[in-house]
Amino acid sequence: MTLAIGFVGLGNMGGPMAANLVKAGHRVTGYDLSAAARERAAAHGVTVAGSAAEAVTDAEVVLTMLPTGRHVLDAYEELTLAASGALFVDCSTVAVGDARVAADLARTVGHRAVDAPVSGGVPGAEAASLTFMAGGDEAEFAEAEPVLAAMGRKVVHCGGSGAGQAAKICNNMILGVSMIAVSEAFVLGERLGLSHQALYEVASTASGQCWALTTNCPVPGPVPTSPANRDYAAGFAAALMAKDLGLAADAATATAAPTELGRRAAELFADFARGEGGGLDFSAIITTLRERV
Ligand code: NAD
Repeated sequence: MTLAIGFVGLGNMGGPMAANLVKAGHRVTGYDLSAAARERAAAHGVTVAGSAAEAVTDAEVVLTMLPTGRHVLDAYEELTLAASGALFVDCSTVAVGDARVAADLARTVGHRAVDAPVSGGVPGAEAASLTFMAGGDEAEFAEAEPVLAAMGRKVVHCGGSGAGQAAKICNNMILGVSMIAVSEAFVLGERLGLSHQALYEVASTASGQCWALTTNCPVPGPVPTSPANRDYAAGFAAALMAKDLGLAADAATATAAPTELGRRAAELFADFARGEGGGLDFSAIITTLRERV
């Protein structure tokens, strides 16, 4: 079924996601503050509107892919009034509380709302192979699922509003902590005279196996496609990992959850991202861990 979709935020992730909705046969009208992002989207068949409000005026589905919760809430203040009776789907990574406030803003004026953050990064957005973690009621999820399926390989209904964001920050806390664990193991191995390849061959087929090791390996060599082989060009930027771990730490404070390693990982990534590490792939954290005594 062809839907009229308004897409706000056509950046690194939103641009290719909107392009995949066009490929799936939907009529996509988009807007981004950046002229370069608007031009790239237009080249992929997105009709570019003159403003965010204009992009969603006739939309049956309103999708947002914006940097932070502040951007999403500001946009929702405007977009929920500009659209009429639409399904609002926010795919940005934001705090659980912000996702619930955004959904309330939409529902109060007669829309449906789903939070649907993603995992898979820019390559996943380009290949339409993202994983979506969705929060909303059954009917809202049923409506959002086919739209999300056009941009991803897996769509999981995690619960009510905010549950998608909750799953996202829990997953990324595992990833942040495991990347530090893998990096520390390589640094310890170096001090013990162990080659990267030898440690990789053992750990990748033993109980140390994890995505941070076998896909995004923080040392060059063992996994030729990992960012370590191209001077840590992102990939998943350390600044975004710092942001997600900060959201997890805030959520842990709000719920009194004991996440000691998650909090330590948040501190280490925040330190790293404040310096020149922010734009590098998050696996570059190994370079600062190596310098610690
Ligand atoms: P990005 O900065 O490339 O894109 C965000 C876009 O939003 C920018 O082009 C910006 O101009 C636009 N924008 C900001 N305010 C706007 C407004 N009011 N109206 C219209 N456009 C506006 O960021 P990204 O990498 O695409 O990430 C977007 C979200 O996805 C973030 O929440 C991020 O945490 C999450 N995410 C990113 C990745 C990744 O690998 N990049 C992976 C998973 C999740």
